[in-house]
Amino acid sequence: MASLFQTPITALRGVGEKKAKLFERIGAPTVGDLLYTFPRGYEDLSHPIPIRMASPDQPCAVRAFVTRTPSAVRVHGGVTLYRGFADDGETVFPLTYFNNPYISHALHEGEEYLFYGKVTFLHLKPGMTTPEFFPAASCPPVRPIYRQTEGLNSRTIQQAMKQALLLLPETVHDPLPEDLRESHGLCPLRQALEDIHFPSTMQALEEAKRRLIFEELFLLQISLLLLKNGERGESGWRMTQDATEEFWQLLPFTPTGAQRRAVREAVADMAGDSPMRRLVQGDVGSGKTAVAAALCWQAAKNGAQAALMAPTELLARQHFATLSSFFSGTDVHTVLLTGSTPKKERAAILASLADGSAQVAVGTHALLSEGVEFARLALAVTDEQHRFGVGQRSALTAKGRSPHMLVMSATPIPRTLALMLYGDLDLSVLDELPPGRTPVLTYAISSEKRRRALGFLRRHAQEGRQSYIICPMIDEGDDDRASVTEYAARLRTEELPGLRIGELHGRMKPAEKEEVMGRFACGDLDILVSTTVVEVGVDVPNAVVMMIENAERYGLSQLHQLRGRVGRGSQQSYCILVTDAQNQEAVSRMRVLCSTTDGFRVADEDLRLRGPGDFFGSRQHGLPTLRIADMAEDLAVLRDAQDAAAALLRADPTLSLPEHRRLRRYAQRTGGGQTSG
Ligand code: ADP
Ligand code: MG
Repeated sequence: MASLFQTPITALRGVGEKKAKLFERIGAPTVGDLLYTFPRGYEDLSHPIPIRMASPDQPCAVRAFVTRTPSAVRVHGGVTLYRGFADDGETVFPLTYFNNPYISHALHEGEEYLFYGKVTFLHLKPGMTTPEFFPAASCPPVRPIYRQTEGLNSRTIQQAMKQALLLLPETVHDPLPEDLRESHGLCPLRQALEDIHFPSTMQALEEAKRRLIFEELFLLQISLLLLKNGERGESGWRMTQDATEEFWQLLPFTPTGAQRRAVREAVADMAGDSPMRRLVQGDVGSGKTAVAAALCWQAAKNGAQAALMAPTELLARQHFATLSSFFSGTDVHTVLLTGSTPKKERAAILASLADGSAQVAVGTHALLSEGVEFARLALAVTDEQHRFGVGQRSALTAKGRSPHMLVMSATPIPRTLALMLYGDLDLSVLDELPPGRTPVLTYAISSEKRRRALGFLRRHAQEGRQSYIICPMIDEGDDDRASVTEYAARLRTEELPGLRIGELHGRMKPAEKEEVMGRFACGDLDILVSTTVVEVGVDVPNAVVMMIENAERYGLSQLHQLRGRVGRGSQQSYCILVTDAQNQEAVSRMRVLCSTTDGFRVADEDLRLRGPGDFFGSRQHGLPTLRIADMAEDLAVLRDAQDAAAALLRADPTLSLPEHRRLRRYAQRTGGGQTSG
């Protein structure tokens, strides 16, 4: 089986270079990957109904005899229509196909077929247009539906899958050791793969699912545990001097209990024998920056260096400003390094890091670039870690000799889940907001009420407070300038004349962005019209209204992040969700946000509403992309898999027993490719 992961998808008949690109897009560059590309659903063909019972526009299966083979009946605007008839025993109904001469040879008069598709009613008479069909005698009970991409439909994927299954060697190498499989009542891999794609019965499908879910979670656990046990080694930097009390004195505020606790935990890690691997998870506004600063201070005071890496230039600059102000008047020297640092300055900064005269480096991934060397890098912090992959976070640690690692994330996921997903990290949770915050009030409105909402923003501006307005990007990766610029222009000339309105979008140069952000931060702008570039981390306490246009376009977690840009001071803040979406799912999302400001509850709901594919699959989280398991639904299996993985590694910590060699290979593959960034 392992070798099928080295067999390019082009080994399949009918898959050339061009198709291969499409298969790559659905995550299947190799035959092995294809076999692990599971259906997103199934069409149930096992319960055919008489056509008169069909509901309009609902796909259904109808078993019927062809009474007239479709033939070309009308040519119109270059379209050839094929019309035939079928009889389900109660009703004779028309079958319609377009531009499909093949159809007249595929459907035979007098034979029985199972037709699958939507039923349409014309003058109350039912008919089927371009239904799929199977000879009734050899019809499968269910049929897989695959996630398609442009140019690659589910049917083509199905055909490729059939071939891929034929390539499975007679005895596939099963990553799950046999005794484990037996003790957990799991079916063999070959059977599981066949049944997940082309189940012979519903029961077989369930068995296949259970086995593959277990396998996925088990391998994930094994790989995380291997990482956790193996990678640490000896700490290069034992920081025995606790300098944090001194640091708390530098702050303009009193740290929260949660901040103190997180720092205490990390300080204890950094004094220990092996390097720290810690995740600090805190809801938006919980004060993660101060925690990072405390630990950078701790490193500096122990004679070493620290680096803090942020995902955007904007954030890096903001962190730099924050840390510099905390450390001002002390002997701790902080530098900023980003992609737009001028050459000359850059040289001086690199020199100060290489000779150790700068103790703290704040920056973007520019910190990872070649030529950046540290004299004594002892602590690597990555902020908003979901934006970085595991690869980047270890690239930063590679700049030092076994340095400590801290990752900070504002993605609140349920604790049990976090422990399993970030199984290689220890966890601190900032479960307390700084005092004096008033929860943000959230309202969902329809676009008809936009005018009133803008009046609300105007009143706040007149009182000296500021607002954000988020405009959607037209398309992901698309030019977001147009919508922001247009929107801002309309505000200036029509809707809010007289107010100072700034714009921020992804196409601006870092320096321009920074200039605008700076003006907003110091109160020179009343309103900032922006795309989601302000989503992460930006901190302007005087901003009190967050208005989000087309709120239905965003996931719950993202909306929560956006909302987190306000409510950072003592003023009452508001989040206004503008949406005309009527669909159930969007309405529920808005309702959740209006009812709670607790990020953990939002995350739970996000999981529940979106399901695993989207929640975990989305690049938002930097979480492993699961192909089949649903972390929320399969929690019991997850625990099972976790226990089994722990037990197995207790017995054979490095997986060196012969019967575990294969498992080791698989786990490494899981660990290598699991995280998106
Ligand atoms: P996040 O966890 O979202 O990164 P930040 O670190 O940006 O949060 O902090 C949010 C705001 O709260 C900042 O303005 C910061 O100065 C302030 N803050 C942080 N800790 C405290 C505290 N203990 N007391 C009062 N304000 C605090
Ligand atoms: Mg932050």
